[in-house]
Amino acid sequence: MRRMRRMLVIPVFIPHEGCPHRCLFCDQHGISGQAAPPSAGADVGATIRAWLARAKPENRQEVEVAFYGGSFTCLPHARQTELLAAVQPFRQQGLVQAIRLSTRPDAIDDERLDLLLRHRVSTVELGAQSCDDEVLRRSGRGHDAAAIAAAAHLIRTRGLRLGLQLMLGLPGEHFRSLARTAAEVIRLRPDFVRIYPALVLRGSGLEQLYHRGGYRPLSLGRAVAWAAYLQKRFDAEGIGVVRMGLQPTAELARALVAGPHHPAFGELVRARLMLCRTRSLLAGVPAADPVALVIAERDQSVFRGPGCANLRRLRQLGLLDRFVLRTDPAQPRQTLRLFPAGSPGAGTSGRAASS
Ligand code: SF4
Repeated sequence: MRRMRRMLVIPVFIPHEGCPHRCLFCDQHGISGQAAPPSAGADVGATIRAWLARAKPENRQEVEVAFYGGSFTCLPHARQTELLAAVQPFRQQGLVQAIRLSTRPDAIDDERLDLLLRHRVSTVELGAQSCDDEVLRRSGRGHDAAAIAAAAHLIRTRGLRLGLQLMLGLPGEHFRSLARTAAEVIRLRPDFVRIYPALVLRGSGLEQLYHRGGYRPLSLGRAVAWAAYLQKRFDAEGIGVVRMGLQPTAELARALVAGPHHPAFGELVRARLMLCRTRSLLAGVPAADPVALVIAERDQSVFRGPGCANLRRLRQLGLLDRFVLRTDPAQPRQTLRLFPAGSPGAGTSGRAASS
């Protein structure tokens, strides 16, 4: 099996730096726990050196510096140059291989991309959040879905990698609007996507709206279902979902007022998808035929679901006794294969699934 090279991502937070205004749902200080951006390029260099010194050699085979938490391309040119120039010595020494940054869709044009390309930025992540104009308007984004499409097109045309960040459950979003966003994202062909459920954070405009009764966050169950829907659509198109849900940090715990936060949100989504796949595979098999389900070794807890919820659901549906579960080191994660029980393809490492 091919060994994956380990990527070390060095985050440089620039909380709200460059943002022309505060979007309704956003509090980067609360999420990052960082009050101020780096005051000078020297601070960026010190951050990179500290991360490199802490990382084990096997964990820094590939290193990416990522500017997060603000609107990078809204910054004055001199400030962008200062931050990006601070990374260049590390690139030249081969200690850093890539640079990534996040920004707003309405802050992308040829001139800004020229500056990024001169400093060998490889990836631009757009905070798209939704591709529904009404959701964008009610979230105070200050741009429409056409701006997302235009920026995505330009980023791809100029040869940069494109990431899109999506937020589930913003004001005005319903399932049909989510489905439209999914279709538009697929049309835009990003290299990867991140999915976050909208949370009510202390001090944000969304908190005020929430306390006035003007906003109801998604339940955890619905947020997981919506994220699973997106993941399934993107999987089918070969678009990678690189993250689901926010990192559980002490800062986030302090800032969180309400909403579908879960420390293992991505695991919940993967477990839900695994249950759906299991049910649909077993639905096509006559009840009397014993079968083996083969999963990746590392997917065993995802298969069981949180607190064995998937196994309990399969038992309720009368499906738990219909198969034996086997693992195969060569099986790709998040996939399932079904074989007649006892056939050579069913593998040897197996056990009955039990809750
Ligand atoms: S969502 Fe993005 S543009 Fe809006 S305030 Fe937050 S960091 Fe700034």
